[in-house]
Amino acid sequence: MTRPTAGTILIGAEQIQARVKEMAKQIQADYPAAEDLHLVCVLKGAFMFLADLIRGMERSTTVDFMALSSYARGTTSSGEVRLLKDLDYGLQGRNVIIVEDILDTGLTMSYLQEILRARSPRTLRTACLLSKPSRRMIDVPVEYIGFTIEDRFVVGYGLDYAEEYRNLPHIAVLG
Ligand code: 5GP
Repeated sequence: MTRPTAGTILIGAEQIQARVKEMAKQIQADYPAAEDLHLVCVLKGAFMFLADLIRGMERSTTVDFMALSSYARGTTSSGEVRLLKDLDYGLQGRNVIIVEDILDTGLTMSYLQEILRARSPRTLRTACLLSKPSRRMIDVPVEYIGFTIEDRFVVGYGLDYAEEYRNLPHIAVLG
């Protein structure tokens, strides 16, 4: 099988696996097993992160999925956020963690946190695999961050460029 190539590897597959396991353990420690834990995965970029995150936990969790518009077919943010697919279940009284791939300007996450907070969860936290702090336009609280990276457009481990490269087991800098 030939994998598509996507430039330089920034974070290797083993490094990602190790960090995601750590994050899973940290989340597990923060939510006692007797407490409800509901993970909201932001499609499509966070699907692989969610899959590894929940497998790294030795406790039960429920999951739900939502889709927001982000970069259309390029590598620059439009700043416009649209809800493309809503959740299947309500959040009232639940311990919710948003699971997102990458925090860039923060506009998407800020919008998402606002609409989910309005649904009255008991607690609302956020887990992001990657963060580009130098790009932030809005201050947004994120309790669990996997890796902080420079301002580069990255693909792999769920993240795409025009729907390609999501299957890479590592994070690469495009080009
Ligand atoms: P923000 O609203 O924080 O500017 O953008 C967040 C969204 O933009 C992410 O959920 C992701 O879909 C997309 N994004 C931001 N930076 C990157 C990147 O380096 N690579 C990819 N593939 N998507 C990115």
